[in-house]
Amino acid sequence: MHIFEKLAEYRYEQVVFCHDQATGLRAIIAIHDTTLGPALGGCRMWPYNTEDEAVTDALRLARGMTYKAAASGLNLGGGKSVVIGDPRKHKSEALFRSLGRYIETLGGRYIVAEDVGISTGDIHHIQVETSYVVGADVSYGGSGDPSPFTALGVLQGMRACVEEVYDTTSLEGSAVAVQGLGHVGYHLCRLLHEEGARLIVTDLQASAVRRAAREFGAKAVEPDEILSIPCDVLAPCALGAVVNDETLPNFRCRIVAGSANNVLDESRHGEALAERGILYAPDYVINAGGLINVADELEGYNERRATKRVMRIADSVRSIIAISKRDGVPTNVAADTLALERIAAISSMERLHTGHPYGQLQRRRETI
Ligand code: NAD
Repeated sequence: MHIFEKLAEYRYEQVVFCHDQATGLRAIIAIHDTTLGPALGGCRMWPYNTEDEAVTDALRLARGMTYKAAASGLNLGGGKSVVIGDPRKHKSEALFRSLGRYIETLGGRYIVAEDVGISTGDIHHIQVETSYVVGADVSYGGSGDPSPFTALGVLQGMRACVEEVYDTTSLEGSAVAVQGLGHVGYHLCRLLHEEGARLIVTDLQASAVRRAAREFGAKAVEPDEILSIPCDVLAPCALGAVVNDETLPNFRCRIVAGSANNVLDESRHGEALAERGILYAPDYVINAGGLINVADELEGYNERRATKRVMRIADSVRSIIAISKRDGVPTNVAADTLALERIAAISSMERLHTGHPYGQLQRRRETI
């Protein structure tokens, strides 16, 4: 791999290779862009087949976090860490504490959270060595499960979409098809039910479907039926790549708005949705509620403030729809534009010298 060529392609700031012979730690911390603030992003543990694969994943995910934070109005940059190894076999207290020490050496340029393959227990080990951690369990001073906030954000994004398509911000009476009734999907159904939406649901777990039917009067369909169900909103809350060449011709919804990551199989499917008159709420914007919630920990967690910030996802989706119309581009492209415009605006501020560093330097000299 020509690593510097890769870094130059999307202007990555820094990549840190963490190696600890004793604990078996092999990890990569990728920091993409810190124009808006410290890079925040989860740690993923995965048995990558090659080191190139691990580096590529860390870089791709870190860049994604830059866009997500920027479009969500957060004062954060984008970063991600990956640990090479099988989460079922290669975990230990020492390995995660070692990673925590590496994160500490970055002095706050990278803040870690949970991601695929990482448990709250692993986060607690990291936390022993560094304070640059968010998303720990409530009992460890964190904000706990992000899923209810992700669901709340999805609801707000949906609101902005129905406003555009049906000229109302209420989901009362709307038919919403939810694919996946896990952590996010369940809470989303609860919120939609409270709002008076008609739910059509599916999951691979029969018990999750029965629960949604019992608690929210949801109509159950088979997993292979959900994408072609006639509805106002299709909410993918299970897997990525649900919008692809095969599924798209069967869509009978007006809006696609759910929590799943990488909903579009390829970027061109954003355009394909728009051509079919289907409004797409870009995944990384509409599912940012969890990130917005954990980011609040950096200011001393306040649930009310975090909730208010998550509610603003509706405004972000509105801005994206406006950019999409302004530039004549699909909403997935407009989301990137929103993020890039914000980063550009902040980085082009007058470079005023605020005086502080010199003052600090003077004081330090005086004490020597
Ligand atoms: P989860 O694992 O708790 O739930 C996923 C559910 O989808 C499970 O119940 C599973 O049985 C079901 N499922 C899987 N394949 C399916 C299929 N083919 N058809 C129907 N159901 C299927 O995950 P989650 O935390 O609820 O996250 C859901 C999605 O949202 C994921 O793509 C995740 O990456 C994304 N996301 C989650 C959060 C969060 O806060 N949890 C934040 C951002 C994005």
